[in-house]
Amino acid sequence: MKDDIVDLRSDTLSRPTPAMLQAMAQAETGDDCFGEDKTVHALEEHVAGLFGKEAALLMPTGTMSNQVALRVLVDRGNEVICDASHHINFFEAAQTADFSGVSLNPVQTQDGVLDVATIQSSIETRARWSHSYAVPKLVWHENTVNGRGGRVVPLATLQQVRDWTAQQGLATYMDGARVWNASVASGVSLAQYGQTATALSVCFAKGLGAPMGSALVGSRDVITQARRWRKWYGGGLHQSGVVAAAALYALRHHLPLLADDHENARHFALGLMDTGCVDVVVPETNIALFDISRLGIEPGRFVSMADWLGVKLLAWRGQVIRAVFCLNTTRKQTLNATTRIASLIERIAARGGVAGAAAAEGAAANWAGVSTP
Ligand SMILES: *Cc1c(COP(=O)(O)O)cnc(C)c1O
Repeated sequence: MKDDIVDLRSDTLSRPTPAMLQAMAQAETGDDCFGEDKTVHALEEHVAGLFGKEAALLMPTGTMSNQVALRVLVDRGNEVICDASHHINFFEAAQTADFSGVSLNPVQTQDGVLDVATIQSSIETRARWSHSYAVPKLVWHENTVNGRGGRVVPLATLQQVRDWTAQQGLATYMDGARVWNASVASGVSLAQYGQTATALSVCFAKGLGAPMGSALVGSRDVITQARRWRKWYGGGLHQSGVVAAAALYALRHHLPLLADDHENARHFALGLMDTGCVDVVVPETNIALFDISRLGIEPGRFVSMADWLGVKLLAWRGQVIRAVFCLNTTRKQTLNATTRIASLIERIAARGGVAGAAAAEGAAANWAGVSTP
């Protein structure tokens, strides 16, 4: 049992399957900087088609995709409205300032969803003191919202924001690293999501299980400009057909499997909720967040105890712990992880706070055969 480690830290830990590796080995490649990689072309056309857009561009990472999109969609000195929890602010604020020279206006929302009223209130003083401010040029969505437990942004909200931004002359963007999960969970098609944004970024290396790769999707004009910035940023790829083949394989074979990940995340979250000792966000997709404030122990300590029990979790922020489900984790492993973590929580809670933690820590360490620090 001790070998049966369930790693729930991130869906980027998903590994390429033997069948995916075989598809990669068989990929026809060419130098994409010469525009000669047929597999890359096939992927870009396929992804553009899925979202009902004219063109797409294979990117090494989602971060580069976001940063290149900013270069194309926003001139220096202007402003992007996002939520404070969004990847662009939480993990990329410095890069954004450094590379693009744009200003983020990170709004604090409960759920990471930007609706028209929230956007309007974030810029309400602009008309009065217009020359004191950056000019808002882009509204940034993230779908699903990672920092809010993989929340799906409602289609109606996206449509209302698109209509409002169109009237105001702003562009809209969707960081759709997990838009696949949003689509599977909500039944909203990728093409419907595509219609709500000027451009989108998608990741193949999260729950879809490709070893790497993202794509920026948009109009032919946006993608032509993006191709230049990608090269500037060092993201011009050569025999990248191997990466494209993995992404194509993932889209064909792994997309429908995301529903299993959602069920697993839900099972785990409900199991923890049943303890009555932690605060749980019931997941809409593959990310379970739970708050351990009431246990009265440090998140780092909780995570290391879970680690000894063979379940790897991520301390997110504050007292919140994250568990992410992807094709790495079977139903059986999910049941196992749920039992282990729920009983860890109960054990800590039963003795109350620090004393409970010490007792649970001793038991977990004993079980794992390690000595406590
Ligand atoms: C993972 C992620 C990214 C960045 O992807 P990388 O490929 O790791 O650079 C961007 N946005 C969101 C919401 C993500 O979850």
